[in-house]
Amino acid sequence: MTLEERQAAAPREACGYCMGGELLGAYGIKICDLSVSQLILFKEQSHPGRCIVAYKDHVSEIVDISPEERAAFMEDIARAAKAIHAAFHPEKINYGAYSDKLSHLHFHLAPKYVDGPDYGGTFQMNPGKVYLSEAEYAQMVEALRKELKAEN
Ligand SMILES: [Zn+2]
Repeated sequence: MTLEERQAAAPREACGYCMGGELLGAYGIKICDLSVSQLILFKEQSHPGRCIVAYKDHVSEIVDISPEERAAFMEDIARAAKAIHAAFHPEKINYGAYSDKLSHLHFHLAPKYVDGPDYGGTFQMNPGKVYLSEAEYAQMVEALRKELKAEN
């Protein structure tokens, strides 16, 4: 499939990262903007602290952006990972950029814990098991914001 075909199949108007609101709210909570991306808390929290770093534009592939933008995007991902490590102390963070059906470049940052799910293997795309209260989500968002701030 060409880039044009992929984007026609999953237009901006149907994209939570571009449109925000209810489309994003179905699976995520925006935490903040980073330099060329947005940091989003993934509502499904089987992997405590799981986040998404979504590139600022509706592009499909890591090869669709310039080397400078790519470097800045990786820097954003590293910043988010640092904050997750500091706030939630996982053993390891897994990085997944799948998005076969939605052409918007983003990485899942899935913290892994020795006694937690999928440790030593591939994290599930969306286990659909663990959802938190609004207060618990707010607490996680706050913890991540605090760590991001502390870095600067
Ligand atoms: Zn998009």
